Amino acid sequence: MISVYEPRHDLLSRICRRTTVLRGQKPLKLPAGKAVVSFSFDDCPVSGIDNGVKVLENEGWKSTIYVSCGLFEVLNHLGKMMNADDAIALHKSGHEIGEHTFSHKDSTALGLRKVQDDIDQNQERLNALGIPASETFAYPYGETFPGLKKVMGQRFKGSRGINHRVHVNQVDLNQIGSLPLYTNKVNEAVSAIKKLKKTGGWLTFFTHDVRDKPSAYGCTPETMKAVINAVKDSGIDVLNIKDAISMFGGTQ
Ligand SMILES: [Zn+2]
Repeated sequence: MISVYEPRHDLLSRICRRTTVLRGQKPLKLPAGKAVVSFSFDDCPVSGIDNGVKVLENEGWKSTIYVSCGLFEVLNHLGKMMNADDAIALHKSGHEIGEHTFSHKDSTALGLRKVQDDIDQNQERLNALGIPASETFAYPYGETFPGLKKVMGQRFKGSRGINHRVHVNQVDLNQIGSLPLYTNKVNEAVSAIKKLKKTGGWLTFFTHDVRDKPSAYGCTPETMKAVINAVKDSGIDVLNIKDAISMFGGTQ
C-alpha cells in the first residue's frame, strides 16, 4: 500500500487556510467580457502527459506542467511519474514548465527559508536540463501562508493554488484558484465552462493522472474528452498559465 500525504485538516489549519486566501495578495483586475481557460498538470505522471497534455496539444492548446524534479521516475499512487527527458520534450513542444519545488513537501511544514531552497534546487535541475527559469509556481498540495505568498509574488508572475475558484473580475496572482479536473467532478467542470462563457474571467484546471482507472486526484480519458468538448463548444480561448497572465496584463 502506497502511503499518500494529506495536509492537516484540524480546525486551526482550516482557519489558517481561509485567512491566507485574504492575505499576501497580488491582485490583478481582469478585463470584462474576456474568458480564458488554462489546463495545468501537477507533478506529473506519464499518463497525464500521454492522455492529457498530448490530447490538448492535438487541439493546438498549450498546457502548464508543474514539475517537481525530485519525483522523476517515482512510482506512487498517481502511477509512474515523468522523467527528465519528458520534461525536456514538453518544454521543446512549447508547453510551460512551471515550478513545483524539488521535494514536493507541504510548504506550511517546511517554512519560508526551506521552501525557497527547495525551489532553488528544482530550478537548478531544470536549468541543467536546458529548461529556462519557470515564470509561474504551484504550491504542493495547494498549501501556503501569507509570508510565502508575498515572496512568491516577487519571484513568479503567478502562483497557483487549489482553492476551487473561478476568477471573474479579479484574480490574486499569488494564489490563483483552480478547479479539479477529476472524474468525480466532471459535471462541475463542464458547468463552470458554460458559466464562464457568460461571465468572462479565468478558469484554471488542475489534474494529475489521466488513465482508465485514475487515482482520486485524476481523471479518465473520457472525462478529459468531455471537458475538451465543452471548451470547444464554448469557443473560449485556451492559454497556459503564464500566457494567460500576460494576456490579462499581469507583469512581474
Ligand atoms: Zn503536486
